[in-house]
Amino acid sequence: MSGQPGEGERAGRPRAAVVGGGVAGLAAALELRALGLQVVLLERAGRLGGKVRSERVEGFLVEYGPDSFVTYKPGVVEMARRLGLEGRMIPTEPGPGSFIWSRGRLEPVPAGLDLMVPADLRELLATRLLSWRGKLRALADLVIPPRSGDDDESLESFVLRRLGREVLERLAEPLIAGIHGAPPERMSLRAAFPRYAEMEREQGSLIRAALARRRQADRQAGRRVQATAAPGGGGGPDPRRTFFMSFDEGMGTLATTLAEALAEVGVDLRPGSEVEAVEEAAPLAGARRGYRLRLAGGETLEAEGVVVATPAGAVARLLAGLDPGLAELAGQIGSTPVAVVNLAYREEAFPEPPRGSGFVVPAVERRRISGVTYASNKFRGRAPAGTVLLRVFLGGSADPSQALRPEAELVATARAELEAMLGLRGQPLLARAAAWREGLPAYTVGHLERVAAIERRLEERPGLALAGASYRGIGVPDCIASGLEAARRVAAGLAGGGRARLSG
Ligand SMILES: Cc1cc2nc3c(=O)[nH]c(=O)nc-3n(C[C@H](O)[C@H](O)[C@H](O)COP(=O)(O)OP(=O)(O)OC[C@H]3O[C@@H](n4cnc5c(N)ncnc54)[C@H](O)[C@@H]3O)c2cc1C
Repeated sequence: MSGQPGEGERAGRPRAAVVGGGVAGLAAALELRALGLQVVLLERAGRLGGKVRSERVEGFLVEYGPDSFVTYKPGVVEMARRLGLEGRMIPTEPGPGSFIWSRGRLEPVPAGLDLMVPADLRELLATRLLSWRGKLRALADLVIPPRSGDDDESLESFVLRRLGREVLERLAEPLIAGIHGAPPERMSLRAAFPRYAEMEREQGSLIRAALARRRQADRQAGRRVQATAAPGGGGGPDPRRTFFMSFDEGMGTLATTLAEALAEVGVDLRPGSEVEAVEEAAPLAGARRGYRLRLAGGETLEAEGVVVATPAGAVARLLAGLDPGLAELAGQIGSTPVAVVNLAYREEAFPEPPRGSGFVVPAVERRRISGVTYASNKFRGRAPAGTVLLRVFLGGSADPSQALRPEAELVATARAELEAMLGLRGQPLLARAAAWREGLPAYTVGHLERVAAIERRLEERPGLALAGASYRGIGVPDCIASGLEAARRVAAGLAGGGRARLSG
């Protein structure tokens, strides 16, 4: 564990404030404390964790926000190690993968798909998701010359150019809509999927690049198997390390353990504290520039460093007086509402047992839900024997208004759609919903330039940093990385150095 209890109370230590107690803010607070600062964390809600929230209800593990994290990025894995949580990470259960709702039935996501790019031509030809015309159009990617220039482009324009409309509507849009808040026609390719732009530049074709990557991954896997089989070659990949993982008691385990660790090292945690404005204060100790935080209810608080770890929409309001230019740039980063409905049923309620980890619903199918996760298939320990736990998603870029309804309506819509689509029968054993107004950040065309402009403005304010999902990565690992980096920047700024960068 980092930081020393009691150290923060020592007089003369600079004080830093963190606004927002989601995972980005919690990580920032931990790092600021570890770097020797006194830290106060202000969170509007009555609980910490932001969108990361899990609850055990009648034997079911209910997740209101994220349910997993990717392990190829270090953010969560390293934080889990730091918090002593490694042994509580759990892998995804093996299964037949995931599905896409298509013309009234569930079709498997073609094997070897690199998110939306086919990396297995036999699977591409066999899938029923695309017509023959759509498949031939996708294969034209092999001969269409790459675009010249390095300008940003929308995801829609990119996929239409390379793979055609059917791949856009039947694969790309549904598979991506649950992750990003911007609709395909406005989503920034360079911010959301820089790898695809790179694949086109380097290989001239997405399919060729995906095939090459797959061959390379197969070769590496072969070498690993050989190394493990060789005498003394033990180690090898951890069999429990899957691409996605979670924690035994859900993603909330991470947030609650982080909050406990912060309390232990003396961070002043203040849930139920809404910040209304961050303003310039008279220079504090050592003539450093300081900030005054105005809280709802009239209280003010001074700090030499501030990490604002709220969604960008809130940043725009908080910093409007301090730096109108910075606030305006943050205000240009929008977000899309999304809601999650947890529903539990007895197995008998399903005409056919739910297969795989769930399915996504393309916008062109015009349903009122955008996807379903079979939580109890995906991870162990999510539901009692003989029952199934589902997470149904509403809202997102295809139909944001669906997410902003009262809880009873969210539940009713989710149930009606499951009954119509899967033939589900009877009353659920449990229903719990959460709607997130600023659910998924929208990285629209030009996003990276906007973030770079924000970073340039922050260069003039070394004690101030922004963190969280709005800038350089939406997933929990990205948010943790951005919180850590923001903390280091503020600490370096207070010590007299530091360069601005929003990461994650
Ligand atoms: C439904 C859903 C499913 C997701 N699934 C996954 C997944 O499976 N895997 C994954 O990696 N990612 C997933 N994500 C994304 C990920 O969960 C989020 O991007 C991440 O949790 C955001 O963390 P954050 O700290 O940046 O922001 P938040 O969690 O939004 O925290 C910001 C905090 O700031 C507080 N705040 C706002 N204004 C103020 C103010 N004025 N004063 C004080 N406090 C304020 C808010 O109350 C909030 O607690 C999902 C997101 C959603 C919505």
